[in-house]
Formats: sequence, structure tokens, C-alpha cells
Amino acid sequence: MIQLSVAKFGGTSVANFEAMSACANVIASDKNTRVVILSASAGITDFLVELAAGCELSQRKIILDKVCQIQYNIINQLQSPDAVLNQIELLLKHIESLAESASLATSPALTDELISHGEMMSTLIFTQLLKEQNIPAVWVDVREIVATNDCYGKASPDDIKTKKQAQQIILPLIQEQKVVITQGFIGRDPNGKTTTLGRGGSDYSAALLAEVLDAKDVLIWTDVAGIYTTDPRVVKDAKRIETISFNEAAEMATFGAKVLHPATLLPAVRSNIPVFVGSSKAPEQGGTWVTKDPQPRPTFRAIALRRNQTLVTLSSLGMFHAKGFLANIFNVLEKHKISVDVITTSEISVALTLDKKGSTSQSEILSKSVIDELSQYCRVQIEKQLALIAIVGNSLHTKKGIAKDLFNELENYNIRLISYGASTNNICMLVNDDEVDHIVKGLHYSLFKS
Ligand code: ADP
Ligand code: ASP
Ligand code: MG
Repeated sequence: MIQLSVAKFGGTSVANFEAMSACANVIASDKNTRVVILSASAGITDFLVELAAGCELSQRKIILDKVCQIQYNIINQLQSPDAVLNQIELLLKHIESLAESASLATSPALTDELISHGEMMSTLIFTQLLKEQNIPAVWVDVREIVATNDCYGKASPDDIKTKKQAQQIILPLIQEQKVVITQGFIGRDPNGKTTTLGRGGSDYSAALLAEVLDAKDVLIWTDVAGIYTTDPRVVKDAKRIETISFNEAAEMATFGAKVLHPATLLPAVRSNIPVFVGSSKAPEQGGTWVTKDPQPRPTFRAIALRRNQTLVTLSSLGMFHAKGFLANIFNVLEKHKISVDVITTSEISVALTLDKKGSTSQSEILSKSVIDELSQYCRVQIEKQLALIAIVGNSLHTKKGIAKDLFNELENYNIRLISYGASTNNICMLVNDDEVDHIVKGLHYSLFKS
């Protein structure tokens, strides 16, 4: 019996023929990698999201051309393009007609149906590429496996149904020595409609399938050789973290480290499945292992950042010594399925940050009806163009001098909000979006220079 690994390759890893060929090498060199989850080729989901928002015919044509170009560029380099051409053409026709429907009236269900086509195309093409390299690849429609609720744009999986279906469909294929290629990001609701797990959700799909298939690990192959002390695109000399705990990685992902989708760690933590993050183009460089209890655990581990944050300040003199104010406003937010991230309170006001957290939904996070309902209880102030920085670490609450380290560095900047103490793993602050890169560079230097 093999010790199963579930591997996931992200958008840049399947962006073109060379990148896909590198993924094929990664698979060929590890006999345990027998379930493979793919994202759409880089750029495709963004184009499909644009189409799903509804565009004019001329714009639809431009976008569709770009989608075709990305996929045909890969197909044309296959030995037998004809093996997949009909299926891809059919999917492209579907995209065209769904985009036309979206131009008349959009809906969350239509959006999910449309954007699922990216993963459908990448997996079909990649399966053929693997077959041409004599890898016994078999394509599986993940919607037969991943069952979700009908919360389009950010659906939640039904773990029990997913487990049953995964074991029925995937295990026999593994027994037959196949390498199963399937889609990340998408699932199916009880009505048979396609759903998505939120932007970047393929990581989550991989961890979920690893859990239900009792895999020994999840291998996230991406465009960076691991998880770094901060986004290496922002700070060039960010350092790779060799081992990191589930908790720390979850904090990083939640607060913006795009390298892992925040929900990825849920199944991994629940079932204690190690997660590896490495580069599909340079697997020899190694990567980061995310595990339950790695040592050592430094005070400062990493800095995560998330742009485009909205801060809502709700003030009411009625809050002074009053009961039920917070309950009222949270009921409104709950009713509109808005999740609150960071929160601070004073005697007469509460400030909170809201984030779409990667939903594919197109709607404004704070609609007029939400604002109107909140306004029944308090004055509502909204600020945008903010960014959230999270300093992630361990036992931050027990260390002396932490504030000095941070505030020295922040001397020249306006800090809009600070949240410290709720978690022992992070300190969060809200700053101006246009200053966030400078702040992160400075903080990174002062916290990690040694
Ligand atoms: P994929 O398409 O493979 O899912 P993503 O673009 O979602 O890849 O995630 C990889 C990117 O995450 C990197 O290119 C990097 O810019 C970004 N990133 C943000 N924070 C970090 C971090 N702390 N360590 C590594 N990468 C990070
Ligand atoms: N293709 C989807 C996205 O771009 C899912 C993923 O890549 O994980 O968000
Ligand atoms: Mg990703």
C-alpha cells in the first residue's frame, strides 16, 4: 500500500507548456503523488471573473481571445493536440454563452459556473500532457467528489459526503496505479450546481482531499520555494522559513500571505497532516514544512500584509454603559454574511475591519442596505485605502519590549488601528495603503535583520 501524497499545482505552475512540464517532472519523481489538484492556468480565473461581471460584446470578444490564446498556446505544444481539442472547444463555447448570459443578468451561481471552466480546461490539458509522458494519468471531475453548500462564491464543503464520494471514486483509481488529476477550487451543491470555495481555494481543495483520503501529506507546489518571513515580492531579502506550526501558518494565511489559502490549514490541523510548500519550477530548492509542533518557535516569525481593507467605525452615545449595542450591530453583519476581521472598542464606538476574504462575489462588501440597517443603531463612518499588517509569532504577549521594537520602526507613520492581545500569535495594525510597502520593509529589517 502506498503512502499517499496529495499535490496541488497553482496557476503559475500550469501557466504554460514549460511550467506544466516541470509539474510533470515533479509528479514523475515521487511515486506517492497519486492525487493531483490543479488551479486554472494563471490569468484565466481573473478573465472569467471579468466575464461573469457582465461585459459588452466587444469586451467579451477581447477577453475570450486572451483565454483562448493561453490555452491554445499549451495545447499546440502537445504531441497530440487533437486528443483534447474538442473538449476544450466545447468548454470555450460554454464560456462564451455563459458570458453572454452574464451580460444580461449576473448572479452568484452563474459566476461560479462560469469561472469553474478555468480548472476544467487546465486539468484536461494537463492530463493529456502527462499521458504523453507515459504517466498513467486519469481525469476526474471533482464536482462528483467535493460536495458543498450553496453559498456561491465561497461555499463550504460537506466533509462527510465528500469523504464518501472521494473514497468511492478516487481510491479504486489509486488501486489501479493511476495518477488522478482533478480540479481545485470547485465543488457541487445539493441542487447539482457548480460552486467555488473562494479565490485561491485550490489549496483548500487539496488539504480537504488529503484529509478524506487519509493522505500522509499535502504538497503545495507554487512559484516560491516555501513560506517566507514576508512576501518575497515586497521584500527581496525575505528568508525562507524551514518549518512553521499550523497556528503560525494559519495566522499568516488569514492575514494575507497569499501563498496559502486561509482554509487550507483547517483539514490539515484537524487531521494533523503536514503541509509542504515548494516551487514546482525548482523542487530541488526544497521548501517549508507546516506541521503541528516544529521547533524552535521564535518570537517573531513573519509579517503578513493585506491590502484593500475597509475600516468601519460605529459610534453611538447610546453605547455608553448600555447593553445589547454590539449584539445589534453583529446581528446586522451576520444577516448580511459579513465577517469581521479585526475589532477594537472604546466606550462609545467600535471599529472593525471587513474583508471579502477572497470570495468570488462581485458585490460591494458594505451595501447601502447594510449601512442603512447599521445606521438605525449608530453613526457609521467608512474609511478605505487601508492595509492590514500582521506581525506573526509565538507567545507575543509574554515577551518584554515588543512594543518598543515595533513602535521605533513605526515612528514616521500614521497607524489607524492596533489589535494586540486577543491572540498570542499576532499583532495587527491598520496603515495607509500607500505606505504599507515601506512599513513592511522597515519592520522586516528591524525584526529579521540578524
Ligand atoms: P499559486 O497560484 O501557486 O496558488 P499564489 O500566487 O496564490 O500561488 O501564492 C504564491 C505567492 O504568494 C507568491 O508569489 C508570493 O508573492 C505570495 N506570498 C505572500 N506572502 C508570502 C510569504 N510569506 N511567503 C511566500 N510567498 C508569499
Ligand atoms: N483559480 C482559482 C483562483 O484563481 C483558484 C486557485 O487558483 O486556487 O482563485
Ligand atoms: Mg494560491
